[in-house]
Amino acid sequence: MAIATDLSPSPPLALPPTCDDKNAKALRLIEEMTQNTDSVQERVLAEILSQNAQTEYLKRFQLNEPMDRHTFKSKVPVVSYEDLKHDIQRIANGDRSPILCAHPISEFLTSSGTSAGERKLMPTIREEMNRRQLLYSLLMPVMNKYVPGLDTGKALLFLFIKAETKTPSGLVARPVLTSYYKSDQFKNRPHDPYNVYTSPDEAILCPDSFQSMYTQMLCGLIMRHEVLRVGAVFASGLLRAIRFLQLNWAQLAHDIATGTLNPKITDPAITEHMAQTLKPDPELANFITKECSEENWERIITRIWPNTKYLDVIVTGAMAQYIPTLDYYSGGLPLACTMYASSECYFGLNLNPICSPSDVSYTIMPNMGYFEFLPHEDAASSSALSRDSPPRLVDLADVELGKSYELVLTSYSGLCRYRVGDVLQVTGFYNTAPQFHFVRRKNVLLSIDSDKTDEAELQNAVENASALLKEFNTSVVEYTNFADTKSIPGHYVIYWELLMKESRHAPTREVLEQCCLTMEESLNAVYRQGRVADHSIGPLEIRVVKNGTFEELMDYAISRGASINQYKVPRCVTFSPITELLDSRVESVHFSLAEPHWTPERRR
Ligand code: AMP
Repeated sequence: MAIATDLSPSPPLALPPTCDDKNAKALRLIEEMTQNTDSVQERVLAEILSQNAQTEYLKRFQLNEPMDRHTFKSKVPVVSYEDLKHDIQRIANGDRSPILCAHPISEFLTSSGTSAGERKLMPTIREEMNRRQLLYSLLMPVMNKYVPGLDTGKALLFLFIKAETKTPSGLVARPVLTSYYKSDQFKNRPHDPYNVYTSPDEAILCPDSFQSMYTQMLCGLIMRHEVLRVGAVFASGLLRAIRFLQLNWAQLAHDIATGTLNPKITDPAITEHMAQTLKPDPELANFITKECSEENWERIITRIWPNTKYLDVIVTGAMAQYIPTLDYYSGGLPLACTMYASSECYFGLNLNPICSPSDVSYTIMPNMGYFEFLPHEDAASSSALSRDSPPRLVDLADVELGKSYELVLTSYSGLCRYRVGDVLQVTGFYNTAPQFHFVRRKNVLLSIDSDKTDEAELQNAVENASALLKEFNTSVVEYTNFADTKSIPGHYVIYWELLMKESRHAPTREVLEQCCLTMEESLNAVYRQGRVADHSIGPLEIRVVKNGTFEELMDYAISRGASINQYKVPRCVTFSPITELLDSRVESVHFSLAEPHWTPERRR
C-alpha cells in the first residue's frame, strides 16, 4: 500500500464530505501513522528506494537488489549539503538525467541555510507538494480539539511571497512557502471554514512587501471583529506587522474613513480586489485612530482584534527571543507553534498546540520521509561519521527519551541520509511516535528573522571591515556580537575593541560607518535579503568599546569559575551582566547608513 498523501474522500461518496468528516479523517490518519511508526518508516524507505533505485546517486553505492533498510544503512553515507553540491549544480545547469531522483526535478527550494553565502538549493519534485498539503491539512483538526469555534471566524495571518530566480537551465528557485502560495493547491483550495483568511490571495501573492503588508493589514482591520487568530509563520513576521501598523496606522485609518486606497498601492490585482471590499467606515477609522495614537501599545493585538483566541506563530528555536515582546502586545495570549518544516521536507506537527512555548514538542509524522537520528554527542565528533566505521544512526522508532539527536533525512525528492542541521531532543511519545523539542539549529551564532549567521561568516565580515582601518594604523583586537531584538526590526550589534597605534589619526565616523556596511556586504544572501527586500533586519551597528574591556570580560568570566587556560572570548553574548558590562564601556556607536547589495540573482 502506498503511503497516504491525500485526505480527499475515496470514491464513490454520494455527498461531499463535511468538515467533521475531514477532521475525523485527519485525526484518524495521525493515529494510524503514529501507532505504526516503524512499519510506516519501513514502507516509506522501501517506496523511496524503489522509486530511486536507478538514480545515478544510489547506483554509486552498489546496493544490489533487494535494496532493504539494512543494506541502505550500511552502504549509503550520511552527507551534508557540501557533499551534494556538485550533483545539485549539475541539475541546476540542466542535466535532466536521474541524478538524485527518478522523478523530474520540478523546481529548487531555496533554504534559509546558506552555502558559501548563498541559499542552499534543494531539488524538489511535483508530488512533494501533496505531502506538504497533507501536513497542512492536519493542523486545524488538531487545533479544533483545543480551541473550538475556529470555523466561525477568520484568521489574520501575514503571509508573504519572496523573490524567485531561475537556475541556468531555467528551473525556478524560490523559498518553499513562495512555492506553496503560488501553487494551484493553494490558489484553488476548496473552501474550508477553519482556514478562512482575512488576507486576499491578491495581497499574499503580491511581490512588493510594502503593498502586500499594507493590504493584509487593511483587510485585517476591516474584518477586526471576525478575526479569531492572528499570526505569521515566524514570531519576527508578526512583530514586523505590528511595527508596520505603528508606522502606517494614520494612512490606514484614512483609507478606511474615506473608502479610498492609499495611492502607493498600485498592484492591479490588489486595487481591483480592494475596489470591491473597501467602503467608507468613519466609525472604524476613529476607533483605529484612538487606539493607535495612544502612547501605550500594550495589548494592542487584543484591543484591535478583541476576539483573538491565540497567536499562530512559531516561537521555538531562535524565535524564542521574541516571546516577551509578543506577550506585551497580546496581553499573554497563548502562542501556538503548530508545525515543524523545512525546504527539504515537512517534518511534523505539534499535537498539543496550546501548550506553553517551553513545552512545545513536535511529532514527526512517519509518512513524510525516512528519518534517522545521529546521537548528538556523536554528531560533534567527526570520527562517528568516518567511512570506515558506519555512523551509529538510530531509527525514528528507536530514539530514547531525554536524548538529543541531529536529524538525518531521506526524502522522496532524492536526498539520502542528509544532515538537516537541526538538533532535537526527545521529550515523549505519542503512541509509538517520538515527540521532539527543537533544541537549536547547528552553527547559528546570530539570527533576527530567517537569517542564520555562523561564526565563520562573522569572522570573515569582521576581517573585511577591519581592512578599512589599516590606513589608520588601527586593528580590531577583539569582538563579540548579539542580536538586538529590543527594537523591531532587530539588528546585529558588534562590539569592537580597537588598537590604535596613533591616537591622533583615529578612524573617522565615516570610516566606521563604512565598516558597518562592509560587514553587511560580507554577510550571506539571506541576511542581505532581510535588509533590502523584506526589511526584516535593521542596519548593523558597531559599538566601539574602551581599551581593556575584553580583559575585564575575561576577569568576569574567571571570577565566575571559567578556567584561565581555556577561556575564549564568547562570540555571541546574551547574558545580561555581560552585555551591561560591554554597554557601560561603549565609546562610540556607528550604524550602516546604506543598504548592502542584494538581488534575487545568486552571486555565483
Ligand atoms: P528553511 O530551510 O529555510 O525552510 O528552514 C528550515 C529550518 O527552519 C528548519 O530546519 C529549522 O531549523 C527551522 N524551523 C522550521 N520550523 C521550525 C520550528 N517549528 N521551530 C524551530 N525552528 C524551525
